Amino acid sequence: MLKILQNIVHNAISRPYTSNYPFTPYQHFPGTRADVSFDGSKCILCGLCQRSCPADCIVIHKEETKIEYLNTQCIRCGYCVRICPTNAIIQNEVYTKPSTDRLTVFTLVTNENAPIIKKRKAEAAAKKAAAEGNPAEAKPVKDAPGKTENKPGE
Ligand code: SF4
Ligand code: SF4
Repeated sequence: MLKILQNIVHNAISRPYTSNYPFTPYQHFPGTRADVSFDGSKCILCGLCQRSCPADCIVIHKEETKIEYLNTQCIRCGYCVRICPTNAIIQNEVYTKPSTDRLTVFTLVTNENAPIIKKRKAEAAAKKAAAEGNPAEAKPVKDAPGKTENKPGE
């Protein structure tokens, strides 16, 4: 009985736990898992995030060296963030505002350690050397190490 009285008094004099939205601006809690964003300077186009995404909202376009993120389809589970070997995916604490439009975000990958970018640079260097008549540098280019199997959409 005493406990109930204590609770009644406490609740009567304490401030409400809810905010007076929309008059009070929305405040997210620290550690909220919201939208993800990609860092094109760190990505190596390995495709692990695409394979791990349960909502199929990441498409790695290896040939075009870009990442497609279907924001409106993402369930904010964070699997991609945990699996990325180069920490190229960041999970933000802020959600995109609701909208009736589908939102797709493209990120261009510029990381020179990405196997396909390395391979293209080597091919360009070999072509240049061949054009300049330098056969020592104009060797055929092998596949760069770390090349992974192409997935649909690549
Ligand atoms: S947070 Fe989950 S649903 Fe969203 S892109 Fe990453 S793996 Fe896919
Ligand atoms: S490096 Fe990270 S962001 Fe890039 S494809 Fe691999 S898992 Fe995805």
